[in-house]
Amino acid sequence: MGLSEAQYKKIIDHYDRLRTEHHREELRRLKEVCEKIPGFEDLSHGSASASGETFRRRLSGDSQGKDKGELHDTLLKLREQKEKLLCENGFPKNYLDPILSCPDCRDTGFIGDEPCHCFTELSERFLQDSSNLRILLKTENFEHLSYDYYKGKDLEWFQKAVERSKSFISDFSADYRNLLFFGTVGTGKTFLTCCIAGELIKQGFSVSYYEASEFFDMLYHNAVNKSGAGTEEGIFPDCDLLVLDDLGSEVHSQFSSSRLFDLLNLRFLRRRPMIISTNLDLPGLQERYSNRIFSRIFSQFEAIELSGGDIRILRLQKRFKNTERNA
Ligand SMILES: [Zn+2]
Repeated sequence: MGLSEAQYKKIIDHYDRLRTEHHREELRRLKEVCEKIPGFEDLSHGSASASGETFRRRLSGDSQGKDKGELHDTLLKLREQKEKLLCENGFPKNYLDPILSCPDCRDTGFIGDEPCHCFTELSERFLQDSSNLRILLKTENFEHLSYDYYKGKDLEWFQKAVERSKSFISDFSADYRNLLFFGTVGTGKTFLTCCIAGELIKQGFSVSYYEASEFFDMLYHNAVNKSGAGTEEGIFPDCDLLVLDDLGSEVHSQFSSSRLFDLLNLRFLRRRPMIISTNLDLPGLQERYSNRIFSRIFSQFEAIELSGGDIRILRLQKRFKNTERNA
């Protein structure tokens, strides 16, 4: 299964955005350096005018074979001078080098006509995002909605949760909302999350669905391999809805905590909705994550609690009873 046209376009957009971000950062750094080191700006102009001068001479026919060598020497000297100044002023030597997430393709995604390895990695990530969900959506959708496994208060809470899931879908393009499904194992959190995701996909929204442990593994893998780019946009999936299923199942680390915080911030800033589901209760969440993460979640997500027995077990028991009866 290959990339769809929309996915392909998203990847191309990703590279465009990456280059723009990097260029902006390069300019910012240059400005910072020029402000901090007197005389640096003149040196930069020196490089430009050295190249310009040779170019002009060549155009006017006043070209000597040694031009190229001379220019090379001049530029090299200027570069050394600049690097020395940078180091003396506490900047890394390569502070003003072009910023590239993938030097192999210079963030174009292609080497000649061939896709770069970073392009291949990205497209695999895209395909995986959608395939995780495709498998789940076969069984976890509103057609399979059943209230049979709930009673009393559990039933009441589940009915409310279904209503709020449906309103989340109908308000999706007009209202910015985030949902937090919490409650014990097997009470329907993943089911409702998938119902919402499936409906939104049908309406043409892009949805990325991750189990939390797999999500942080992926981020860690990308950080170690330095793929996915140095910008937050490159690190986190850029989709209309991001689902993090089973938050709390991931290995707890400084890395996952700080990534979670960055992710929440970035999506809030952009008003891009999220759904989180977790087996932890609210005090459990607060205990596991820092106060700043908890307060972000608490203030920005609508908390929906589900309760009851483990439906997966109840379903199995029912199926088992039916087979006994039919035997
Ligand atoms: Zn590349």
